[in-house]
Amino acid sequence: MNEALLMKIGWGLISSPNSLWVKVLLSKYGLDHTLLPNVLPTKYGSYMWKAVGGIWPEVLKGIKWDIGNGNKVRFWWDNWATEDDPLHAFTLQPIPLEQVDECVARLTTDEGAWNWRLFANFLHHHLFLKIAAIKPPNVNVRMIKSYLALSKMMVNDEDSFWSFVWHWRGPQRIRTFMWVVGQNRLKTKVELFRRHIGADMSCARCGCFIENTLHALRDCPGAKHVWLALDWMLYNLKNLWKYEGFFDWTCLFEVTIWRLWFWRNQNLHNGVTNSTSNIVMDIKCHTEEIQKINQSFFVHADIKVEKHFGWVAPSWPWFKLNTDGTHKSSGLSNARGLIRNCHGEWIIGFGMNIGVGFITGAEIWGFYQGLCLA
Ligand SMILES: [Zn+2]
Repeated sequence: MNEALLMKIGWGLISSPNSLWVKVLLSKYGLDHTLLPNVLPTKYGSYMWKAVGGIWPEVLKGIKWDIGNGNKVRFWWDNWATEDDPLHAFTLQPIPLEQVDECVARLTTDEGAWNWRLFANFLHHHLFLKIAAIKPPNVNVRMIKSYLALSKMMVNDEDSFWSFVWHWRGPQRIRTFMWVVGQNRLKTKVELFRRHIGADMSCARCGCFIENTLHALRDCPGAKHVWLALDWMLYNLKNLWKYEGFFDWTCLFEVTIWRLWFWRNQNLHNGVTNSTSNIVMDIKCHTEEIQKINQSFFVHADIKVEKHFGWVAPSWPWFKLNTDGTHKSSGLSNARGLIRNCHGEWIIGFGMNIGVGFITGAEIWGFYQGLCLA
C-alpha cells in the first residue's frame, strides 16, 4: 500500500481515538489507546494492519509530546523533551528525592518560563537547548487571560489611557511611543536592569540612583527644566487646553515626552547635548507641524502613498507582523520577526535563539513570539 496512506492511517490511530474505525481496530487487536505501543503487534491481522505495523516506527518518529498544562507529564521520567530515553537517563548527578517525580509544570516560573535554576545542575548543555525549544506549559493560559483582561479594558473603559493613545491624532511613531510608555516598557536603566541587559540602574545624565520612566521623562534635571520652560504646572492647574493661544496641550504633552526621550538617547548614545531652550524650540516646532497636518489631513485627500514591492503595508490603523524561522543542519534554530505600521515603518522587532528543534517549530516559535510582541 501507498506509504503516505499508511502513515495517514497510523496517525489516525493516534489522533482520533473516538473515531469508530479506530475503536474497532484497537478493540479487535486488544490495544488500549492511552498505551499505544512502540511496536504494533502484527503477528496476526489483516494485510492493512500488518502494513501499518511496518511503517509504525516511522509514524512514531513524527509524534511529539504535548505537555499541555504540564501537570500530568513527569519532568524526569517521560520522553517529552527527548526522543529515546527520558531526561532521567542523561542526568549528570543524582536528582534529589523530592524532585524526582516532579511534573513539568513545577519546573517553570510564575511568569511562564522554564525555571532553569531548578534543573541546570543536572543536565548537559545540549539538553538545555532541546528544552529551550519547547514552549513551557501554561503560557497560553496566561496569554489568553491577559488578552481577555486587555480586551475587557479596551471595551469597558473608553476613557482609558489606551483609548486616549489610539485616538490621539498624530504620527504613528508618537502614538507607539506613548503606548510603550504606558506599558512601562521604555528601555530606561531600570528596565534594562530588570531584563538583565544593563548592570546598573543609575541615571547616566545626573547620577541619580534610579532612572525609571518618571525620572527620565520628568524628574531628571534636563527634563525638569524643559517642563518648567513650558510652564506645564501653570497650564495643568488652570486646565487650559490651549497653549499660547495655539498649542493643544495634549499634543504638546505627547510631543514633549517623545522629544525628551529622543534627546535623552541622543545624549547617552551619541554624546549630543542640547540646551533647554533648543529642546523647547524643537518641541514647539514638532507640535506645530503635527497640528498643521491634523488641520489639513481631512481636507486634502491627495496624500502620497508609498508603494512597496513584494510587501504591502496594512491599511490604517492596522499593523503587520512578519515572522520567519530558520533551522541549521546542527539542529540549532532561531526565529525573527518584526511589526510594521501602515507606513511600513519599523515598530518593533525580535530575534531569538530557540535551541535545538525542527524548522516547523522555529516557524511556530517566530509566529508565537510575534503575537506575544503584538
Ligand atoms: Zn537623571
